[in-house]
Amino acid sequence: MQVPADLQPGTVAIVGVPWDEHSSFMRGAALAPARIREALHCGSANLCAETGPDLGAEARFRELGDLELTGGVAALTQIERVVADLLAREVRVLALGGDHAITYPILRAYGKRYDQLTVLHLDAHPDLYDEYEYNRYSHACPFARIMEERLATRLVQVGIRTMTPHQRAQAERFGVEVVEARAWRPGTSLSLAGPVYLSLDMDVLDPAFAPGVSHHEPGGLSTRDVLGLVQGLPAPIVGADLVEYNPSRDVGDVTGMVAAKFLKEIAARMLEPGQAHPTVHIGIESC
Ligand code: MN
Ligand code: MN
Repeated sequence: MQVPADLQPGTVAIVGVPWDEHSSFMRGAALAPARIREALHCGSANLCAETGPDLGAEARFRELGDLELTGGVAALTQIERVVADLLAREVRVLALGGDHAITYPILRAYGKRYDQLTVLHLDAHPDLYDEYEYNRYSHACPFARIMEERLATRLVQVGIRTMTPHQRAQAERFGVEVVEARAWRPGTSLSLAGPVYLSLDMDVLDPAFAPGVSHHEPGGLSTRDVLGLVQGLPAPIVGADLVEYNPSRDVGDVTGMVAAKFLKEIAARMLEPGQAHPTVHIGIESC
């Protein structure tokens, strides 16, 4: 993927991250970015978000293709560098995973750019393991790494329904605010202050709505619940990822269409005015 030279500030860049090396149970999420783009441009739908914006007519909506990753630990640095480059141009990144391991390197770039960042994490799983199957970069671990490095000031998780004692202890240790699926009610409003980074794991949905995920976890949110959350967020979304869609498990491309729908509604929120200028983190940067 080449970063085009003509990206104007405030652009929402759709970046495919076809990477699933750190999936624990089943691979396949690396196939997702291409399939989500296919669903997005499928003749059965259009590019208008429900709230109005026509992404097809919006010059600041840009699809940049897929990152070319070498694999291994180097991929973490590659993802972070590209996102940092885009943020330096005041572009907002909407990344298409891949599995949830992509969120840690993305937030390394965001954490250096924003000194106050709220992360809203929608998922069946808290992904807070200190390590999983001897892998600290597993898709089961990103939010432990993110909180250890203080890349977010607040982490708010919604839809969780697989807490283990270890992860409960981790949530407490890091001060994570958790709205478990059993406590979730449609219309629940979250008190969030911007800027917000949204990390959307497709398995937050009940498998009835999204069978194309590696970890089927019954008792989840509906597609409309998630759309309502995105549309009703009281704060600007400065970055987002859409992860864990696994096309090899999908049924009739249903989950691909749901992912494309989420992409449209999230991008529409990210294009809203008044979000162009990030708070630049002033401090000593390490890389
Ligand atoms: Mn996850
Ligand atoms: Mn999950």
